[in-house]
Amino acid sequence: MVSVPFISSLEQFVFPQHCNNCSVTLNEDEYLYCHICRVKKLQLTKMGNWVQNLEVHDYLDFAYSLYWFDEVLQAYVHQLKYSGWHHFLPNLIQPASVDCILPPISQMAAMVIPLHKVKQRDRGFNQAELIADQIAPQWNLPVVKNKLHRIKYTSTQTQLNIDQRQKNMEMAFETKPALPEAVLLVDDVLTTGSTANACAKVLRDNGCRWIGIFTLGTPKLKNKSSVN
Ligand SMILES: [Zn+2]
Repeated sequence: MVSVPFISSLEQFVFPQHCNNCSVTLNEDEYLYCHICRVKKLQLTKMGNWVQNLEVHDYLDFAYSLYWFDEVLQAYVHQLKYSGWHHFLPNLIQPASVDCILPPISQMAAMVIPLHKVKQRDRGFNQAELIADQIAPQWNLPVVKNKLHRIKYTSTQTQLNIDQRQKNMEMAFETKPALPEAVLLVDDVLTTGSTANACAKVLRDNGCRWIGIFTLGTPKLKNKSSVN
């Protein structure tokens, strides 16, 4: 079988790609922007723990999103979700996440927000797992798998208001024993918090005492700018 690096370099050879910002020819491990422009283009949220500003956070203790979800991050997340390309993740996550200080809580483990098994089968992977595999080792957290499942198939929530989102997420998840005492959920993007909060509720109902959510990005909204 032909390896992925060979295919991407062959693609690059046949169809050279250029940086959308400075037009330099991209290396095979670069996408959309060269490594210099990429760092300049992405904007850190610098919000710290913004759980109090989530629209829904009753069961969450902590929320951290590295970048504003602008067109650059959107392009990366799109690559992650639909192509499974993730070679850019270390560059995106490692320098930025040093500012993310987790509360000093013992027995913490990372768990991904699960996809419904039908969606996971169609996609072949869960993009949140790719992120968790990068971020968890930085904090020496184990990644606990197959303890949280999405049992309700939900269509995209982008058109729903906050009440509809919460309704949509009711009874959407279930857990398997034995859960870690503290869970850092991991996902690609955090918007209203309704999905993470629904996961947090079922985790808490089944014995977890601390639940946080970490994401690559969050959309920029006025009410978040003052968070510290
Ligand atoms: Zn460039």
